[in-house]
Amino acid sequence: MHVRLNHLVYRWTSTKTVIEHTNRRGGIKYFSEVACSSVSGTTNTSRSSSQSRMVEPTLVKVSKANSIFRLSDYDCIGFDLDNTICRYKLAQMVKLEYEVLAEYLVTQKGYNAEYLMKPLDGSLDFLQKGLVFDFHRGNILKLGSNGYISKGSHGTRFMTDFEIEGIYGPDRKWNMSVAFCQDMLEAWNGPMSERIRTVSDYFDMPAALVFGRIVDSVDAKEGKKLDSYNVWPDILDGLVYMFKRENFSSDEGGYFPALKKNPGMYINKCSSNVINWLKQIKDSKVVFLLTGSHIDFASFTATNSLGVNWRDLFDIVLCYTRKPGFFTGARPFIKLDGVTETDPVNVEDLEFGNMYSQGNWQDLYQFLSKKTGQQHPKCLYVGDNLIQDIYVPSSYTKCDTVAVIEELGAEGMNDNDSYVHSDASVIVSSGWGSYFGTKEKHVTGNSFWSGIIKKHSKICVPDLGVLASLPLTFEFHSFSEGEEKSDYLGYYPGYPRSFWQSA
Ligand SMILES: [Mg+2]
Repeated sequence: MHVRLNHLVYRWTSTKTVIEHTNRRGGIKYFSEVACSSVSGTTNTSRSSSQSRMVEPTLVKVSKANSIFRLSDYDCIGFDLDNTICRYKLAQMVKLEYEVLAEYLVTQKGYNAEYLMKPLDGSLDFLQKGLVFDFHRGNILKLGSNGYISKGSHGTRFMTDFEIEGIYGPDRKWNMSVAFCQDMLEAWNGPMSERIRTVSDYFDMPAALVFGRIVDSVDAKEGKKLDSYNVWPDILDGLVYMFKRENFSSDEGGYFPALKKNPGMYINKCSSNVINWLKQIKDSKVVFLLTGSHIDFASFTATNSLGVNWRDLFDIVLCYTRKPGFFTGARPFIKLDGVTETDPVNVEDLEFGNMYSQGNWQDLYQFLSKKTGQQHPKCLYVGDNLIQDIYVPSSYTKCDTVAVIEELGAEGMNDNDSYVHSDASVIVSSGWGSYFGTKEKHVTGNSFWSGIIKKHSKICVPDLGVLASLPLTFEFHSFSEGEEKSDYLGYYPGYPRSFWQSA
């Protein structure tokens, strides 16, 4: 699970991570633990110690220049769990998330039920992964390259080009959106996170509609647009309420209890094809599961997607890893006693067959080096979250990445009319346009996210089944820098239909 919760300050105790949550309006502080990893305060304090014991080669990655990508070239392959191995039934899951969040905001924060409790069905087209909030202005933005604002809404009302240029200038660039595109990690952790953030996966995607509807209701009540809005802290409280990690065991917060009660309604079973493919990889390579979910929720989703013997598919299982900080920081791995975190564990004491909590990439790499007998084992990480799973490992480690982006299948691909995504209505948006952008104009047509995919992943697929249907030695043409046509060639089994339609 990958929901990032802003305005949270972290302190680490010997047994658990405690999050100090500051309610900015009331100045009231309270503490909560969350099930998700990506709430991390990550880099600044631990970067130097991480660098001092860097074990990865410091050479510039050469693999990007090589346009051939083969799974068989890697010594170790890691997988994210949620939305990568474990695919959700998104129509049901997003509906649940929206309803839990909306009900919380109406009953606990006093927002207008007339707006928030409207059915989701009529507004599905407003949902899209990767949208960005301009919190203070009450705006939701879609970004192109370099912070360019390709589309925008105030509340849920789409703005005209004239309005966008009136607010953000004729070049349609906001200093925050430009800064966000230049350094997403700074935007994730630093002061910028109080001005801008993105809904980066299907766990927080419905928050954009919630935000839009609240802004609509405030404008209607005041009879005008406000100079500044301050509704995000309340929505954040709602996300904390839903995803607090103790809620899984205590059956609170609405979200986890619903999943536990009827997992088949929300979680797809992994195909035997993918399960056999994971077994095949493990025959010749080290395979690790690296998830943000706490051990109890991770076990639940893995069991429901992969079956009761899911642990046999991985050499080592790493939970509550708090990405993206896992890839940049130096937090120790923590032993687990059942679902309880106990003591830090030295890298020398990590073992195959075990599950651990938290940790960091440099220690894991040292462990992988020892286990493979390779001084510099070649590693690959496969995930869906373009910030945590793709951009950060690609930028801060020598690990290559594969992006699993369901929008590729849902929006459609060139020469691949046969691909069916059963929940396309939830993730395809005619209002916002293609997740990947278009090729009409090189600068303004590409979406920011397709730029991240091209620069930071080797290839992009809509699901793991695409990879599982090919031999490990299959030669993919990967994205590569400086090769214009590779905008198209790194996508499998086809490039986004929006590229083709606008080419
Ligand atoms: Mg994920």
